Amino acid sequence: MAIIITDECINCDACVAECPNNAIYEPDQEWSYSDETALKGMVTSLDGNEIDADAENEPVSDEFYFIVPDKCTECKGFHDEPQCASVCPVDCCVPDEDHVETDEELLNKKAWLHDE
Ligand code: SF4
Ligand code: SF4
Repeated sequence: MAIIITDECINCDACVAECPNNAIYEPDQEWSYSDETALKGMVTSLDGNEIDADAENEPVSDEFYFIVPDKCTECKGFHDEPQCASVCPVDCCVPDEDHVETDEELLNKKAWLHDE
């Protein structure tokens, strides 16, 4: 499943550089699928929708660092464990119960982000 950052985040910035998918953003920062991925222009999402990978999307949080679930692979395909959780000094990167995915789905997402 994706990882989520809780409101215990102290906005220290340590996790951002560790994410292989650029799924972590600063508070109030717009995000896009194309940031540091192979996606660009119009693409078909994993659930079959046509989306603009270059579009700037609304921030998920204006108070804390946040993770875009559609870009988080739990680090599958890159690392043995979630790197954000490994470096977070307050242990506020936790499994997101609202985005439960199998290992196969996470690896498919990794391929979608980087192999197109
Ligand atoms: Fe990025 Fe990995 Fe954290 Fe997901 S678990 S946000 S892919 S560092
Ligand atoms: Fe927040 Fe933890 Fe990331 Fe620091 S490492 S910005 S406390 S989620």
